[in-house]
Amino acid sequence: MTTEQQRTSIVWDYAPAPEATDHVRLADRYGIFIDGAFRDPAESRYEPTLNPATEQPIAEIAWAGAADVTAAIDSARAAQPKWAALPDRDRAKYLFRIARLIQERARELAVVETLDGGKPLRESRDVDIPLAAAHFFHYAGWADKLRYGVNAREVAPLGVVGQIVPWNFPLLMAAWKLAPALACGNTAILKPAETTPLTALLLAEICQEAELPEGVVSVLPGGGDTGATLVRAPGIDKIAFTGSTAVGRDIQAALAGRPTSLTLELGGKSANIVFEDAALDQAVEGIVNGIFFNQGHVCCAGSRLLIQESVLDEVIAKLWRRMGRLRVGDPLDKNTDVGAINSAEQLQRIETLVAAGEGEGAHRRTIACDLPEHGYWFAPTLFTDVSPAHRIAVEEIFGPVVSVLSFRTQAEAIEKANNSRYGLAAGIWTDKGAKAFEVANALRAGVVWQNTYNHFDPTAAFGGYKESGFGREGGPAGLRPYLKVVR
Ligand code: NAD
Repeated sequence: MTTEQQRTSIVWDYAPAPEATDHVRLADRYGIFIDGAFRDPAESRYEPTLNPATEQPIAEIAWAGAADVTAAIDSARAAQPKWAALPDRDRAKYLFRIARLIQERARELAVVETLDGGKPLRESRDVDIPLAAAHFFHYAGWADKLRYGVNAREVAPLGVVGQIVPWNFPLLMAAWKLAPALACGNTAILKPAETTPLTALLLAEICQEAELPEGVVSVLPGGGDTGATLVRAPGIDKIAFTGSTAVGRDIQAALAGRPTSLTLELGGKSANIVFEDAALDQAVEGIVNGIFFNQGHVCCAGSRLLIQESVLDEVIAKLWRRMGRLRVGDPLDKNTDVGAINSAEQLQRIETLVAAGEGEGAHRRTIACDLPEHGYWFAPTLFTDVSPAHRIAVEEIFGPVVSVLSFRTQAEAIEKANNSRYGLAAGIWTDKGAKAFEVANALRAGVVWQNTYNHFDPTAAFGGYKESGFGREGGPAGLRPYLKVVR
């Protein structure tokens, strides 16, 4: 086996810096949220949600069934005409209120996001929660300017939308979905992921605090079967889905021949391209952020690292040294860089693909670090000697694992970057502006970052090509999927 390990030889010691949790007010049990109130699911099914860093249950969560889906649709349908008929500026006020309440409860939301999902507190505190609030602020601003987002045409909401989100950015994905849908005058039914329902349920509480009219937002926690029931239920005008390509395909097939509109935000295997003229130390920071941010549980993670051959050894050496400084462990510790893997299933998926990489002959290096005894963990890993046909170069690993490929010319970099069935994002590291634009234009990727990576902004459109899905979220482009053009 061509595997190396490196001691995580932190040159200085950190004192533990755990975030306090005593300000968090979680209930033991959460029901489904319909008609502006929490209630028991019709079939009385509850499942625990676990802390992936400890494997301990945090709370019992309702599991919505078919009767609950019907009840949510009835409630959303009844509420929609009144919501759409509100003066636009009044809908905006509700979105502003939600944004402000997210800010007010930011500390609590950050801790809960970290407890439920395993991501480092530094990220939930500095990225997930502020960006979720920013999305509500942004779309509050659009609520009375909708027609200007759609070429000055006369527009109308679609009606009732079903929104299904994954576990990697639970509150942020909920905000990406709900904020534009509500701004456009739709009512929404949100289905959070089974392993991370908590912040969506706290968002339901926030909707109550904001006095959002009943039925405008419903939250139906549950599993894939709940999502599948929502997709197939009569009375839904649009499905917005973020998740895996396999499930996206199933949803598209289920909706074929029906008038339900659909947007899909799916997986990726994004290329992060380092040219020889890049500021290499800066690029190394971007590579680390591109793949180890959120344990690599990022749809647009820079998981295919393309390095120009002339600087290959230098970049690998710098990257490997930098990886040895990453702190893996307690997600609630403010010094932690890499937290827990979200679930036992996800850990197994990562392990399977990493074993495939070794089996196919790629050279694996994993940093050595003391991993906690309980919970789900995978130490940051780097693969070199990767061929473009290896599974680790083709399939989405969705974990802290980067596969390195090399190239000699700009044309070869473009060719290799585009050699993927996905097309979600890419990164370009160069000090030549013209080269960056030239390469970006040739890449078949929805988002291309230049000399940065994983940089999100509510004003910018996000979405994919090819098997990464269709439809855009964010900015004015994010309004279009929630509106129909009337004239
Ligand atoms: P997943 O597809 O398994 O689940 C996503 C959501 O769909 C969950 O809420 C799940 O309960 C629900 N679901 C499962 N089966 C369903 C079905 N048959 N019908 C309807 N709903 C169903 O994905 P995941 O493992 O939770 O998330 C990881 C995937 O999400 C990765 O592939 C990642 O790239 C992708 N993702 C994409 C984006 C993007 O914007 N493109 C963002 C985040 C994550």
